[in-house]
Amino acid sequence: MEALFDRYSAVEENLRDIRASIERAARSAGRSPDEILLLAATKTVPAEVINHAISLGVTCIGENRVQEFLEKYDSVRHEEVQCHFIGHLQTNKVAAIIDKVSMIHSVDRLRLAEEIDRQSEKAHKVMDVLVEVNIGGEESKSGVSPDEAEVLIREMAGLPHIRIRGLMCIPPFSDDMEQTDGYFFKMRKLFIDITGKKIDNVSMDILSMGMSDDYEQAICKGAGIVRIGSALFGRRQ
Ligand SMILES: *Cc1c(COP(=O)(O)O)cnc(C)c1O
Repeated sequence: MEALFDRYSAVEENLRDIRASIERAARSAGRSPDEILLLAATKTVPAEVINHAISLGVTCIGENRVQEFLEKYDSVRHEEVQCHFIGHLQTNKVAAIIDKVSMIHSVDRLRLAEEIDRQSEKAHKVMDVLVEVNIGGEESKSGVSPDEAEVLIREMAGLPHIRIRGLMCIPPFSDDMEQTDGYFFKMRKLFIDITGKKIDNVSMDILSMGMSDDYEQAICKGAGIVRIGSALFGRRQ
């Protein structure tokens, strides 16, 4: 019990700090803090700790492994939050999550988009999606290359049961703030370029970027959703 109590109070304090930092970063960029959605990244976090964060006012949570998401699903107070899927998604797992999430951040290929479209139609819904961009061109990471993002978006635009809301990225890990800033800047530029093309059925309004170590920088570069795990829940084992 003691340990859980400590963890609860840590989450409360962390959340207060994160909200203050979001507000500070937004104001310094001339933005309103209300434009920024804090998504709590809940991988490896037990359901009772997630529920505590929800009781403190967290309004959006994101999981990134299908199996873990489904295992915890019934124990988490989903009625009170939006739930997003933020991890790599296999096509054959789409059906398992389609009625449980309101946004998928990690669409990076047409086959996946088509499956989300098909399953959304069956579930009588239109799914909000973000296109994941491999902004650092890393071999090991998923995401469409920046050069191919527009083509993918044009192909996806015809699918009636998805709504393309914007772009997401996980930039290469770096201790160098300027390098990270460069990736966020590239994302913002790509976002503006594609939005400017006025592709039919595409009206993008969200950039999902920024995690525990760099969300303030991301906000300064236009992030609309920041995905924060360890800064809120503590370091993962
Ligand atoms: C884990 C994860 C995060 C949060 O990472 P932290 O560095 O712990 O804040 C954000 N986005 C995705 C896709 C993740 O998998």
